[in-house]
Amino acid sequence: MFLQGKTAIVTGSTSGIGLAYARAFAAQGAAVVLNGFGDPAAIEAIRAELSAASGAAALHDPADMADGDAVTALVDRTAAALGGVDILVNNAGVQYVAPIEDFPPDRFEAIIRINLLSAWYAMRAAVPHMKRAGWGRIITTASAHSLVASPNKSAYVAAKHGVVGLTKTVALETATHGITVNCISPGYVWTPLVENQIPDTMRARGLTREQVMNDVLLAAQPTKQFVTPEQVAAMAVFLCRDEAAAITGANLSMDGGWTAA
Ligand code: NAD
Repeated sequence: MFLQGKTAIVTGSTSGIGLAYARAFAAQGAAVVLNGFGDPAAIEAIRAELSAASGAAALHDPADMADGDAVTALVDRTAAALGGVDILVNNAGVQYVAPIEDFPPDRFEAIIRINLLSAWYAMRAAVPHMKRAGWGRIITTASAHSLVASPNKSAYVAAKHGVVGLTKTVALETATHGITVNCISPGYVWTPLVENQIPDTMRARGLTREQVMNDVLLAAQPTKQFVTPEQVAAMAVFLCRDEAAAITGANLSMDGGWTAA
């Protein structure tokens, strides 16, 4: 329980990778602020589970990551309620896929707001708290798409490349303050989001479940294995350890070899 006494905000943590981060931090004793959308009863069950696991507070804050002022308010509310912001995980993210000439401008702008600008607003608000404490960990879920592109993902690829530049810059600005700032870049992660695409793709392309997984989803992933949310969360927990204090400004790939190819 090496995170007892620490507070962690995880944006987009009502599902998928974010929920795994929240559970992993709570298992180490951190007070966790959940963020994201979903069924209120399901969110309350997660909140109670986290608090029972950590023995510390667990809160849900529904701030919309598309709204910069709401992101700032989330950080300010956390500091007021829990006495500080020690760990910030920028994880909320959305996707939209279309060729550039058909890409709706409002979808492009929403992805840039949720996947990139929210991280900037959250870091801007959290860094003063971390500087005061002389310790902080900022982790952003980027993607293999922070390093390589795929067609039809202009907004997502631009946002994910952007968070890497943001991370490097803030890492340099905070390097002498006990704060580290890093990205984790997964390949395809087995989340409900990915699992739910399989039946539609089977129907649309006349493929078996196995063909969709190996030839469509895992086509670019040499291990032919999905990354798990728990693996990504374990990396985040490691980044919070003292042994990881020298890792800053890094973009850590967890993509089964995708970007080595
Ligand atoms: P998910 O859809 O399971 O979870 C997304 C979370 O973000 C949910 O909690 C949702 O409520 C929240 N969210 C969405 N829009 C929001 C908004 N405007 N304000 C606040 N919360 C919002 O997705 P996931 O697969 O767990 O993805 C999480 C992150 O990991 C994203 O940044 C994504 O780009 C990245 N990622 C995912 C994969 C993958 O294969 N699943 C791979 C690489 C990177």
